Amino acid sequence: MMPFTLERPASLPAALRADAEFIAGGTDMVQLMQEHIRTPGRLIDLSDVLPRGILVDTDRARIDAGTSMEAAATYTPLSEAAPAVTMALIESASPQVRNLATMGGNLLQRTRCGYFRDVAVAACNKRRPGSGCAAIGGENRNFAVLGTSEQCIATHASDLAVALVALRAELDLDGPQGARHIALSDLHRSAADRPEIETTLRAGEVITAIEIPLDAASANSVYVKVRDRAAFEWALLSAAVGLRIEGGKITQARIAMGGVGTRPWLLDRVESALLGCAPTRAAVAEAVALATEGARGWGHNDFKITQMPVLLTRAIELAAAQAGERA
Ligand code: SF4
Repeated sequence: MMPFTLERPASLPAALRADAEFIAGGTDMVQLMQEHIRTPGRLIDLSDVLPRGILVDTDRARIDAGTSMEAAATYTPLSEAAPAVTMALIESASPQVRNLATMGGNLLQRTRCGYFRDVAVAACNKRRPGSGCAAIGGENRNFAVLGTSEQCIATHASDLAVALVALRAELDLDGPQGARHIALSDLHRSAADRPEIETTLRAGEVITAIEIPLDAASANSVYVKVRDRAAFEWALLSAAVGLRIEGGKITQARIAMGGVGTRPWLLDRVESALLGCAPTRAAVAEAVALATEGARGWGHNDFKITQMPVLLTRAIELAAAQAGERA
């Protein structure tokens, strides 16, 4: 690891004036520094100045960005109001990592692409803009099939982001230019151009809180993940689904997938197709067929295109069963 200085500011406004790179839980940043992917000379530690805490109200949950993933995963009112979020947190990492990692930091983790994380690999547009992409034509089993380009085909790694995007979470941001509020679905950029720029955050901006609208669909939500081994592992594919069912018909659908896109992938066309339908096998089959519109395989990951409807069907059936029990 390269030498660096670590500063602990007295307040968040002081941190935002610092014009340096940030670290909070450090579970991703330290690894990137050890691998020489990132070599900041000066780091600002946000651990003591980012807000922490969870508030679950009747129609909204607010999770401060400095809250640990473990604190959120074990907060019962949140698991009752939005179980997909809790399931995604538990599937994300071991309890040890969840105790260190923050909710805001998890959304900003870098890709797990092995070529990106190996400085011996020359071709990586995300690490060295203009150098090419070693994954195209290389080993690309766990790469994206949606939102890709000849520039980059890496998936976004966060399980949490998939559940939150499905549930239409929003973010509070703060930075040198002031505070603002955005939809989480507007945070992550696609890989169409400039894959080295992964988010729409402005220079010096941080996430300060996550807000989740709470309704029947969030309460009847699930997160299902397929991975290569049962222990802590990144998603090959995942699906977050929340449904509201009234009078036997789906009246609200919240759906996103992970492990398949260059960012957490919202499936609003599938959502629309389910509205007004009874959750029958035929109706679900017709809707999930829309999930792979525009998908492109890169060789080793072609199987994801055939497996997406399978996993999505399973997640919709689980959410429908849950919604039926609660109806
Ligand atoms: Fe780099 Fe993206 Fe290609 Fe991976 S997929 S090698 S991150 S450009």
